[in-house]
Amino acid sequence: MADPGIALFGGSFNPIHHGHLIIARAVAERLGVSRMVLVPSALPPHKRASELASAMDRLEMARLAVADEVGLDVSDVEVYREGPSYTFLTVEHYRRLLGPDVPLYWVIGGDTLPELHTWYRISELVEQCRIVTAVRPGYEELDLSPLGRVLSAGQIDRLREGILPTPLIDISATQIRRRIGEGRSIRYLVPEAVREYIESRGLYRELPAAAGAKSRPTH
Ligand code: ATP
Repeated sequence: MADPGIALFGGSFNPIHHGHLIIARAVAERLGVSRMVLVPSALPPHKRASELASAMDRLEMARLAVADEVGLDVSDVEVYREGPSYTFLTVEHYRRLLGPDVPLYWVIGGDTLPELHTWYRISELVEQCRIVTAVRPGYEELDLSPLGRVLSAGQIDRLREGILPTPLIDISATQIRRRIGEGRSIRYLVPEAVREYIESRGLYRELPAAAGAKSRPTH
């Protein structure tokens, strides 16, 4: 039987939340992959520590979130790699491990798809793996024309075909950090073990003035 392949789901996971996890499982089921691997990014040098928890904390929260969940794993490959967390390097690493024929997917949310032209070596990346997109509330109408600057029409068509009808989950890490900064509960937005970890480590209590600012690591 042919190998169903694996899916990689990268992000800052600052913190990981139920939006990520519901999407991860829905995409894994839809693609029929044997493994879905969450890949927390390293700490981008320009991020303030109060806005972005350390890579070790984000890695640990991701591990806590998927503990006991068969088929969902966490990779520390970006956390321990020197330099920016380029997706291209992570996919290259997995492609080398898997060989050329095993299906390899990279999962993103709908807000990320129109920004792909800014990613490092994106036109090679879309050939190394299949990028699939989970829909996200507020990002239903996507203008993919900027992608034409670096990708061919065929490559953009494939990205469009990779948009999957996943559940629409209106949860973001920005919203969670803001709630913590305001002293409000984040129960039900993140797994209980993650909530306890955030509380015990005192994460996100002091946000910078622009608390609503989205944190975007380098891809
Ligand atoms: P922030 O609010 O800090 O920007 P985030 O909630 O978008 O964080 P990230 O860790 O940046 O979380 O997201 C990693 C990937 O998961 C991105 O491709 C993002 O588009 C996707 N994603 C995150 N939350 C959702 C969601 N609720 N629905 C669909 N995709 C999501």
